Amino acid sequence: MVVALECSATATTRSVTVLLELPDTLRHDFHMGGRMLNVGADHWLAGVERCPSSNCDDRTDPADISLIVVHGISLPPGRFGGDAVKQFFTNSLDCAAHPSFGDLVGVRVSAHLFVERTGGIVQFVPFDRRAWHAGVSRHRGRAGCNDFSIGIELEGTDDAAYETPQYESLIDIVIALMRRYNSLSLSEIVGHNDIAPERKTDPGEAFDWARLYGGCLARLDDFRAAHRH
Ligand SMILES: [Zn+2]
Repeated sequence: MVVALECSATATTRSVTVLLELPDTLRHDFHMGGRMLNVGADHWLAGVERCPSSNCDDRTDPADISLIVVHGISLPPGRFGGDAVKQFFTNSLDCAAHPSFGDLVGVRVSAHLFVERTGGIVQFVPFDRRAWHAGVSRHRGRAGCNDFSIGIELEGTDDAAYETPQYESLIDIVIALMRRYNSLSLSEIVGHNDIAPERKTDPGEAFDWARLYGGCLARLDDFRAAHRH
């Protein structure tokens, strides 16, 4: 087993390099600390709210799931709670209900997951399908990030601190996804702003990347400690 970890993050720069080679038998035990989430054979997270969206299609290569994209969203912007985001992702939002919804008429988008302010998790699209969250985007020279990514929306805004239960759920999700999809790693988690910098700012300055990496690395440390002997 080889586990090498390096992480640094500041308000303006961040980088993470993670090399993790685990035998499959140990990979299944990769669940120390936090809540154990599992991706089922159907590519849905077990035990979380399901809100199926038709805003998805086939991935160009279903086996290529190699990037996690973190987003921030709230509808109306800055107002938390309620069902507007779920309605938006399932084409059932009443766009006359608020002036800010006028731009959303006819827009068909989705994400795989939505993490509410309470930490509640909602899944809209199975991970082996392509959700429509990234739009025109590019990662490491490769365009069309929806093809090969998993999109996770956090309920929030660019400048309001995200809630502790949201970080806890996000870390649980990342660990569960890394256990299931071998091409994922901590070095392949980006913000929407990273892959569409001309158009997008989410999840914004409010998102604490060090907290995400630190939480995930702590889980890896737990794992290493448990298998030291
Ligand atoms: Zn976004």
